[in-house]
Amino acid sequence: MKIENLCVRRLIGDVSGAVTRGHKIAIKGGYVYQTFQGGYTLTPLGWSVVHKIENIIRDEMNAIDGQELLLPVVCSADLWRETGRYDSMDNIAKFKGRSGTDYVICPTHEEVITDYARSVLTSYRQLPFMLYQIQTKFRDELRVRAGLLRTREFIMKDAYSFHETQEDLDKYYKRCFDAYYRLFKRCGLKNFTDVLASSGDMGGKYTHEFQLIHEMGEDTLYICDCGFRANKEVVDENNTVCPNCGKALNKVRGIEIGQVFQLGKFYADSMHLTYTDSEGNEKTPIMGCYGIGVTRVMAAILEESSDENGPVWNMETAPFAVHVIGLNGKDKSVLELAQKIHDDLVANGVEVILDNRDIRAGEKFADADLIAAPIRLIVSENNMAKDVIEVKYRINDFDTSNMPDEIGVSNFVPGVLDMIRKLSHK
Ligand SMILES: [Zn+2]
Repeated sequence: MKIENLCVRRLIGDVSGAVTRGHKIAIKGGYVYQTFQGGYTLTPLGWSVVHKIENIIRDEMNAIDGQELLLPVVCSADLWRETGRYDSMDNIAKFKGRSGTDYVICPTHEEVITDYARSVLTSYRQLPFMLYQIQTKFRDELRVRAGLLRTREFIMKDAYSFHETQEDLDKYYKRCFDAYYRLFKRCGLKNFTDVLASSGDMGGKYTHEFQLIHEMGEDTLYICDCGFRANKEVVDENNTVCPNCGKALNKVRGIEIGQVFQLGKFYADSMHLTYTDSEGNEKTPIMGCYGIGVTRVMAAILEESSDENGPVWNMETAPFAVHVIGLNGKDKSVLELAQKIHDDLVANGVEVILDNRDIRAGEKFADADLIAAPIRLIVSENNMAKDVIEVKYRINDFDTSNMPDEIGVSNFVPGVLDMIRKLSHK
Protein backbone atom coordinates (compact mmCIF):
# COMPACT_ATOMS: atom_id res chain seq x y z
CA MET A 1 0.00 0.00 0.00
CA LYS A 2 1.13 3.53 -0.69
CA ILE A 3 1.32 5.61 2.46
CA GLU A 4 -0.74 8.42 0.89
CA ASN A 5 -3.62 5.98 0.37
CA LEU A 6 -3.66 4.85 4.00
CA CYS A 7 -6.83 6.50 5.29
CA VAL A 8 -5.38 7.53 8.63
CA ARG A 9 -4.51 10.94 10.01
CA ARG A 10 -1.11 11.00 11.66
CA LEU A 11 -0.11 14.09 13.62
CA ILE A 12 3.24 15.80 13.90
CA GLY A 13 3.90 17.66 17.13
CA ASP A 14 2.03 17.59 20.40
CA VAL A 15 -1.36 16.02 20.95
CA SER A 16 -3.80 17.80 23.24
CA GLY A 17 -6.22 15.93 25.47
CA ALA A 18 -4.22 12.71 25.72
CA VAL A 19 -3.90 11.44 29.28
CA THR A 20 -1.22 8.75 29.01
CA ARG A 21 1.71 8.06 26.74
CA GLY A 22 -0.10 5.18 25.09
CA HIS A 23 -3.19 7.29 24.48
CA LYS A 24 -1.05 10.05 22.99
CA ILE A 25 0.73 7.66 20.64
CA ALA A 26 -2.57 6.05 19.62
CA ILE A 27 -3.98 9.44 18.60
CA LYS A 28 -0.74 10.75 17.11
CA GLY A 29 -0.26 7.63 15.03
CA GLY A 30 -3.90 7.66 13.94
CA TYR A 31 -4.71 4.25 15.46
CA VAL A 32 -7.92 5.49 17.04
CA TYR A 33 -10.36 8.33 16.57
CA GLN A 34 -12.63 9.39 19.43
CA THR A 35 -16.14 9.24 17.96
CA PHE A 36 -17.83 10.02 21.30
CA GLN A 37 -16.89 10.11 25.02
CA GLY A 38 -15.85 6.55 25.73
CA GLY A 39 -16.27 5.28 22.17
CA TYR A 40 -13.45 5.06 19.67
CA THR A 41 -13.27 4.28 15.97
CA LEU A 42 -10.47 1.83 15.28
CA THR A 43 -8.90 3.24 12.12
CA PRO A 44 -7.53 0.95 9.37
CA LEU A 45 -4.22 1.02 11.28
CA GLY A 46 -5.74 0.39 14.73
CA TRP A 47 -8.11 -2.26 13.41
CA SER A 48 -5.20 -4.08 11.79
CA VAL A 49 -3.43 -4.31 15.17
CA VAL A 50 -6.60 -5.36 17.00
CA HIS A 51 -7.36 -7.94 14.33
CA LYS A 52 -3.89 -9.41 14.79
CA ILE A 53 -4.32 -9.54 18.56
CA GLU A 54 -7.65 -11.30 17.96
CA ASN A 55 -5.96 -13.88 15.79
CA ILE A 56 -3.32 -14.63 18.44
CA ILE A 57 -6.17 -15.11 20.92
CA ARG A 58 -8.09 -17.37 18.47
CA ASP A 59 -4.99 -19.44 17.92
CA GLU A 60 -4.47 -20.01 21.65
CA MET A 61 -8.18 -20.58 22.42
CA ASN A 62 -8.47 -23.13 19.62
CA ALA A 63 -5.35 -24.84 20.99
CA ILE A 64 -7.19 -25.49 24.28
CA ASP A 65 -10.20 -26.94 22.43
CA GLY A 66 -12.23 -23.72 22.33
CA GLN A 67 -15.03 -23.46 19.78
CA GLU A 68 -15.66 -19.97 18.41
CA LEU A 69 -19.21 -18.69 17.96
CA LEU A 70 -20.85 -15.28 17.78
CA LEU A 71 -23.63 -14.24 20.14
CA PRO A 72 -25.88 -11.25 19.42
CA VAL A 73 -24.90 -7.79 20.72
CA VAL A 74 -28.51 -6.90 21.51
CA CYS A 75 -30.66 -9.31 23.49
CA SER A 76 -34.19 -9.31 24.85
CA ALA A 77 -34.44 -8.44 28.52
CA ASP A 78 -36.16 -11.76 29.32
CA LEU A 79 -32.89 -13.73 29.50
CA TRP A 80 -31.45 -11.16 31.90
CA ARG A 81 -34.57 -11.37 34.05
CA GLU A 82 -33.99 -15.12 34.49
CA THR A 83 -30.85 -14.45 36.56
CA GLY A 84 -32.12 -11.21 38.11
CA ARG A 85 -29.27 -9.26 36.60
CA TYR A 86 -31.64 -7.11 34.50
CA ASP A 87 -32.36 -5.19 37.71
CA SER A 88 -29.18 -5.80 39.71
CA MET A 89 -26.51 -4.67 37.22
CA ASP A 90 -26.36 -0.91 37.01
CA ASN A 91 -24.37 -0.45 33.80
CA ILE A 92 -26.68 -2.29 31.37
CA ALA A 93 -27.91 -0.08 28.53
CA LYS A 94 -31.64 -0.79 28.11
CA PHE A 95 -34.10 0.30 25.48
CA LYS A 96 -37.63 -0.45 24.33
CA GLY A 97 -38.28 -1.64 20.79
CA ARG A 98 -41.18 -0.20 18.76
CA SER A 99 -43.16 -3.36 19.43
CA GLY A 100 -42.79 -2.80 23.17
CA THR A 101 -40.08 -5.43 23.75
CA ASP A 102 -37.45 -4.59 26.37
CA TYR A 103 -33.91 -4.98 25.04
CA VAL A 104 -30.42 -4.74 26.47
CA ILE A 105 -27.12 -4.04 24.78
CA CYS A 106 -25.12 -6.85 26.33
CA PRO A 107 -22.40 -5.68 28.74
CA THR A 108 -21.33 -9.35 29.11
CA HIS A 109 -22.79 -12.63 27.83
CA GLU A 110 -23.23 -15.23 30.60
CA GLU A 111 -27.03 -15.34 30.19
CA VAL A 112 -26.82 -15.52 26.40
CA ILE A 113 -24.27 -18.35 26.39
CA THR A 114 -26.15 -20.30 29.06
CA ASP A 115 -29.29 -20.02 26.94
CA TYR A 116 -27.37 -21.37 23.94
CA ALA A 117 -25.87 -24.20 26.01
CA ARG A 118 -29.30 -25.34 27.19
CA SER A 119 -30.40 -25.61 23.55
CA VAL A 120 -27.53 -28.05 22.90
CA LEU A 121 -26.56 -29.87 26.11
CA THR A 122 -28.40 -33.07 26.95
CA SER A 123 -25.85 -35.71 27.97
CA TYR A 124 -22.68 -35.95 30.11
CA ARG A 125 -20.99 -37.37 27.00
CA GLN A 126 -20.91 -33.82 25.54
CA LEU A 127 -18.91 -32.44 28.47
CA PRO A 128 -16.58 -30.71 28.83
CA PHE A 129 -16.74 -28.02 26.16
CA MET A 130 -15.61 -24.43 25.87
CA LEU A 131 -17.28 -21.79 23.70
CA TYR A 132 -15.83 -18.36 23.02
CA GLN A 133 -16.52 -15.24 21.02
CA ILE A 134 -14.78 -12.00 20.15
CA GLN A 135 -17.52 -9.43 20.37
CA THR A 136 -18.27 -5.77 21.04
CA LYS A 137 -19.58 -4.94 24.51
CA PHE A 138 -21.22 -1.75 25.70
CA ARG A 139 -21.32 -0.71 29.36
CA ASP A 140 -23.25 2.38 30.27
CA GLU A 141 -20.64 3.66 32.73
CA LEU A 142 -21.51 6.89 34.52
CA ARG A 143 -18.01 8.21 34.06
CA VAL A 144 -15.22 7.11 31.77
CA ARG A 145 -11.58 7.85 32.14
CA ALA A 146 -10.20 9.76 29.20
CA GLY A 147 -8.09 7.51 27.05
CA LEU A 148 -8.23 3.94 25.93
CA LEU A 149 -7.98 2.13 29.24
CA ARG A 150 -11.60 2.54 30.32
CA THR A 151 -14.13 3.05 27.54
CA ARG A 152 -17.89 2.47 27.30
CA GLU A 153 -17.65 0.39 24.16
CA PHE A 154 -14.88 -2.15 23.72
CA ILE A 155 -14.05 -5.48 22.11
CA MET A 156 -13.78 -8.46 24.40
CA LYS A 157 -12.95 -12.11 24.05
CA ASP A 158 -15.24 -14.00 26.38
CA ALA A 159 -15.04 -17.74 26.82
CA TYR A 160 -17.26 -20.09 28.82
CA SER A 161 -16.50 -23.67 29.78
CA PHE A 162 -18.93 -26.33 31.03
CA HIS A 163 -17.92 -29.29 33.22
CA GLU A 164 -19.27 -32.29 35.12
CA THR A 165 -17.01 -31.97 38.15
CA GLN A 166 -15.06 -29.34 40.07
CA GLU A 167 -11.86 -31.34 39.39
CA ASP A 168 -12.49 -31.10 35.66
CA LEU A 169 -13.10 -27.33 35.89
CA ASP A 170 -9.90 -26.92 37.94
CA LYS A 171 -7.95 -28.77 35.27
CA TYR A 172 -9.38 -26.66 32.47
CA TYR A 173 -8.93 -23.43 34.45
CA LYS A 174 -5.22 -24.23 34.62
CA ARG A 175 -5.04 -24.90 30.87
CA CYS A 176 -6.68 -21.55 30.16
CA PHE A 177 -4.34 -19.88 32.64
CA ASP A 178 -1.32 -21.21 30.74
CA ALA A 179 -2.85 -20.19 27.40
CA TYR A 180 -3.22 -16.64 28.72
CA TYR A 181 0.48 -16.50 29.61
CA ARG A 182 1.38 -17.65 26.10
CA LEU A 183 -0.94 -15.29 24.27
CA PHE A 184 -0.11 -12.12 26.21
CA LYS A 185 3.57 -12.82 25.61
CA ARG A 186 2.91 -13.32 21.90
CA CYS A 187 1.15 -9.94 21.88
CA GLY A 188 4.42 -8.38 23.09
CA LEU A 189 3.40 -7.67 26.69
CA LYS A 190 6.25 -8.13 29.16
CA ASN A 191 5.66 -7.20 32.79
CA PHE A 192 2.33 -8.94 33.36
CA THR A 193 1.21 -11.38 36.02
CA ASP A 194 -1.82 -13.10 37.48
CA VAL A 195 -3.26 -11.88 40.76
CA LEU A 196 -5.90 -13.32 43.04
CA ALA A 197 -9.15 -11.37 42.78
CA SER A 198 -12.52 -11.35 44.49
CA SER A 199 -15.32 -13.03 42.56
CA GLY A 200 -17.71 -10.17 43.43
CA ASP A 201 -21.31 -10.79 42.41
CA MET A 202 -20.47 -13.49 39.86
CA GLY A 203 -21.00 -16.16 42.48
CA GLY A 204 -17.98 -18.32 41.75
CA LYS A 205 -15.39 -20.09 43.84
CA TYR A 206 -12.36 -18.02 42.97
CA THR A 207 -11.02 -15.79 40.26
CA HIS A 208 -7.76 -14.38 38.96
CA GLU A 209 -7.01 -11.22 37.05
CA PHE A 210 -4.22 -10.84 34.55
CA GLN A 211 -2.59 -7.49 35.16
CA LEU A 212 0.08 -5.55 33.35
CA ILE A 213 2.12 -3.93 36.09
CA HIS A 214 2.28 -0.31 35.01
CA GLU A 215 2.16 3.08 36.72
CA MET A 216 -0.74 4.22 34.50
CA GLY A 217 -2.93 1.35 35.68
CA GLU A 218 -6.19 2.03 37.50
CA ASP A 219 -5.92 -0.99 39.79
CA THR A 220 -3.94 -1.36 43.01
CA LEU A 221 -2.11 -4.67 43.41
CA TYR A 222 -0.28 -6.19 46.34
CA ILE A 223 2.72 -8.36 45.62
CA CYS A 224 5.05 -10.31 47.92
CA ASP A 225 8.47 -11.89 47.24
CA CYS A 226 7.04 -15.23 48.39
CA GLY A 227 4.77 -15.33 45.33
CA PHE A 228 1.56 -14.01 46.87
CA ARG A 229 -0.20 -11.58 44.49
CA ALA A 230 -3.67 -10.12 44.89
CA ASN A 231 -5.78 -7.08 44.08
CA LYS A 232 -7.12 -4.69 46.67
CA GLU A 233 -10.49 -6.42 46.93
CA VAL A 234 -8.69 -9.43 48.40
CA VAL A 235 -6.17 -7.63 50.61
CA ASP A 236 -7.58 -5.66 53.52
CA GLU A 237 -6.18 -2.20 52.82
CA ASN A 238 -5.56 -1.50 56.47
CA ASN A 239 -3.56 -4.67 56.83
CA THR A 240 -0.99 -4.77 54.07
CA VAL A 241 0.92 -7.72 55.44
CA CYS A 242 1.30 -10.89 53.38
CA PRO A 243 -1.21 -13.53 54.53
CA ASN A 244 1.29 -16.24 53.47
CA CYS A 245 4.55 -15.16 55.07
CA GLY A 246 3.82 -12.07 57.17
CA LYS A 247 6.19 -9.73 55.32
CA ALA A 248 5.10 -6.27 54.21
CA LEU A 249 3.38 -6.31 50.79
CA ASN A 250 4.61 -4.24 47.86
CA LYS A 251 1.94 -1.98 46.38
CA VAL A 252 1.98 -1.49 42.59
CA ARG A 253 -0.39 -0.24 39.89
CA GLY A 254 -1.83 -2.54 37.23
CA ILE A 255 -3.77 -2.44 33.96
CA GLU A 256 -6.25 -5.32 33.88
CA ILE A 257 -5.95 -7.19 30.58
CA GLY A 258 -7.84 -10.38 31.39
CA GLN A 259 -9.77 -12.24 34.03
CA VAL A 260 -10.60 -15.88 34.66
CA PHE A 261 -13.54 -16.88 36.87
CA GLN A 262 -14.92 -20.05 38.29
CA LEU A 263 -18.61 -19.30 37.93
CA GLY A 264 -19.84 -22.42 39.69
CA LYS A 265 -23.51 -23.23 39.13
CA PHE A 266 -25.09 -19.79 39.46
CA TYR A 267 -26.06 -19.34 35.78
CA ALA A 268 -26.85 -22.98 35.13
CA ASP A 269 -29.06 -23.12 38.23
CA SER A 270 -30.94 -19.90 37.65
CA MET A 271 -31.51 -20.67 33.95
CA HIS A 272 -32.21 -24.41 34.37
CA LEU A 273 -29.32 -25.68 32.29
CA THR A 274 -29.07 -29.41 32.97
CA TYR A 275 -27.79 -32.67 31.48
CA THR A 276 -28.25 -36.36 32.18
CA ASP A 277 -25.29 -38.04 33.92
CA SER A 278 -24.07 -41.62 33.32
CA GLU A 279 -26.59 -42.99 35.82
CA GLY A 280 -29.54 -41.21 34.25
CA ASN A 281 -29.78 -38.47 36.89
CA GLU A 282 -30.43 -34.82 36.01
CA LYS A 283 -27.37 -32.72 36.86
CA THR A 284 -26.26 -29.09 36.63
CA PRO A 285 -22.93 -28.35 34.91
CA ILE A 286 -20.22 -26.26 36.57
CA MET A 287 -19.08 -23.26 34.54
CA GLY A 288 -15.90 -21.27 34.12
CA CYS A 289 -15.56 -17.94 32.31
CA TYR A 290 -12.47 -16.38 30.78
CA GLY A 291 -12.30 -12.78 29.50
CA ILE A 292 -9.73 -10.67 27.69
CA GLY A 293 -10.15 -6.99 26.89
CA VAL A 294 -8.96 -7.09 23.29
CA THR A 295 -8.85 -3.35 22.68
CA ARG A 296 -7.39 -2.97 26.19
CA VAL A 297 -4.52 -5.27 25.16
CA MET A 298 -3.62 -2.87 22.33
CA ALA A 299 -3.79 0.04 24.78
CA ALA A 300 -1.61 -1.89 27.25
CA ILE A 301 1.03 -2.64 24.59
CA LEU A 302 1.07 1.07 23.72
CA GLU A 303 1.55 2.03 27.39
CA GLU A 304 4.31 -0.48 28.02
CA SER A 305 6.31 -0.51 24.80
CA SER A 306 5.95 2.79 22.95
CA ASP A 307 8.66 5.45 23.06
CA GLU A 308 8.31 9.18 22.45
CA ASN A 309 8.30 8.62 18.67
CA GLY A 310 5.68 5.92 18.37
CA PRO A 311 4.62 2.37 19.18
CA VAL A 312 6.93 -0.63 19.18
CA TRP A 313 5.03 -3.64 17.85
CA ASN A 314 6.28 -7.14 17.25
CA MET A 315 6.00 -9.12 14.03
CA GLU A 316 2.66 -10.62 15.09
CA THR A 317 0.95 -7.32 15.98
CA ALA A 318 2.47 -4.74 13.62
CA PRO A 319 0.07 -3.45 10.93
CA PHE A 320 2.83 -3.87 8.33
CA ALA A 321 5.89 -6.13 8.43
CA VAL A 322 7.93 -3.92 6.11
CA HIS A 323 8.05 -0.17 5.48
CA VAL A 324 9.85 0.80 2.25
CA ILE A 325 11.13 4.35 2.07
CA GLY A 326 12.37 5.86 -1.17
CA LEU A 327 14.62 8.78 -0.23
CA ASN A 328 15.15 11.71 -2.56
CA GLY A 329 11.72 11.63 -4.07
CA LYS A 330 12.84 13.20 -7.34
CA ASP A 331 15.25 10.48 -8.42
CA LYS A 332 13.37 8.20 -10.75
CA SER A 333 15.57 5.10 -10.26
CA VAL A 334 15.23 5.31 -6.46
CA LEU A 335 11.45 5.52 -6.72
CA GLU A 336 11.35 2.67 -9.21
CA LEU A 337 13.43 0.37 -7.01
CA ALA A 338 11.33 1.23 -3.92
CA GLN A 339 8.18 0.45 -5.91
CA LYS A 340 9.68 -2.85 -7.13
CA ILE A 341 10.64 -3.90 -3.58
CA HIS A 342 7.08 -3.15 -2.48
CA ASP A 343 5.52 -5.05 -5.40
CA ASP A 344 7.78 -8.12 -5.14
CA LEU A 345 7.31 -8.45 -1.38
CA VAL A 346 3.54 -8.05 -1.68
CA ALA A 347 3.57 -10.77 -4.33
CA ASN A 348 5.28 -12.97 -1.72
CA GLY A 349 2.54 -12.39 0.84
CA VAL A 350 4.31 -9.72 2.91
CA GLU A 351 2.36 -6.75 4.30
CA VAL A 352 4.24 -3.73 3.00
CA ILE A 353 3.74 0.02 3.09
CA LEU A 354 5.56 2.22 0.57
CA ASP A 355 6.61 5.84 1.09
CA ASN A 356 7.67 7.43 -2.19
CA ARG A 357 6.26 10.84 -1.35
CA ASP A 358 8.06 14.00 -2.35
CA ILE A 359 8.61 15.29 1.20
CA ARG A 360 11.51 15.71 3.63
CA ALA A 361 13.26 12.57 4.88
CA GLY A 362 12.60 13.62 8.48
CA GLU A 363 8.84 13.55 7.89
CA LYS A 364 9.08 10.12 6.30
CA PHE A 365 11.02 8.73 9.26
CA ALA A 366 8.59 10.31 11.74
CA ASP A 367 5.70 8.60 9.96
CA ALA A 368 7.64 5.33 9.85
CA ASP A 369 8.10 5.53 13.65
CA LEU A 370 4.33 5.96 14.09
CA ILE A 371 3.39 3.08 11.78
CA ALA A 372 6.25 1.09 13.32
CA ALA A 373 6.77 -1.75 10.86
CA PRO A 374 9.45 -3.97 12.43
CA ILE A 375 11.58 -3.88 9.25
CA ARG A 376 12.35 -0.63 7.48
CA LEU A 377 14.01 -0.72 4.06
CA ILE A 378 15.61 2.51 2.90
CA VAL A 379 16.33 3.05 -0.77
CA SER A 380 18.62 5.97 -1.64
CA GLU A 381 21.07 7.01 -4.35
CA ASN A 382 24.01 6.33 -2.02
CA ASN A 383 22.82 2.82 -1.18
CA MET A 384 22.04 2.08 -4.82
CA ALA A 385 25.59 3.03 -5.78
CA LYS A 386 26.72 0.23 -3.41
CA ASP A 387 24.01 -2.08 -4.75
CA VAL A 388 22.39 -2.41 -1.32
CA ILE A 389 19.22 -1.55 0.54
CA GLU A 390 19.66 -0.18 4.06
CA VAL A 391 17.76 -1.99 6.82
CA LYS A 392 16.55 -0.57 10.16
CA TYR A 393 14.54 -2.36 12.85
CA ARG A 394 11.87 -1.30 15.29
CA ILE A 395 10.66 -4.35 17.15
CA ASN A 396 9.52 -5.41 20.60
CA ASP A 397 11.36 -8.12 22.50
CA PHE A 398 14.03 -9.02 19.94
CA ASP A 399 17.73 -8.30 19.96
CA THR A 400 18.48 -7.08 16.44
CA SER A 401 22.18 -6.34 17.00
CA ASN A 402 23.18 -9.41 14.98
CA MET A 403 20.68 -8.77 12.19
CA PRO A 404 21.98 -7.42 8.86
CA ASP A 405 21.90 -3.64 8.39
CA GLU A 406 21.82 -3.94 4.60
CA ILE A 407 20.79 -6.45 1.96
CA GLY A 408 21.79 -6.83 -1.67
CA VAL A 409 19.50 -5.36 -4.31
CA SER A 410 19.72 -8.40 -6.58
CA ASN A 411 18.31 -10.92 -4.09
CA PHE A 412 16.25 -8.96 -1.58
CA VAL A 413 13.09 -11.11 -1.49
CA PRO A 414 14.63 -14.18 0.21
CA GLY A 415 16.68 -11.83 2.42
CA VAL A 416 13.58 -10.05 3.73
CA LEU A 417 11.58 -13.28 4.10
CA ASP A 418 14.45 -14.67 6.18
CA MET A 419 14.47 -11.55 8.41
CA ILE A 420 10.73 -11.84 8.99
CA ARG A 421 11.15 -15.47 9.98
CA LYS A 422 13.96 -14.64 12.40
CA LEU A 423 11.94 -11.85 13.99
CA SER A 424 8.84 -13.97 14.51
CA HIS A 425 8.05 -15.82 17.75
CA LYS A 426 6.82 -18.94 16.04
ZN1 LIG B 1 4.57 -13.36 51.30
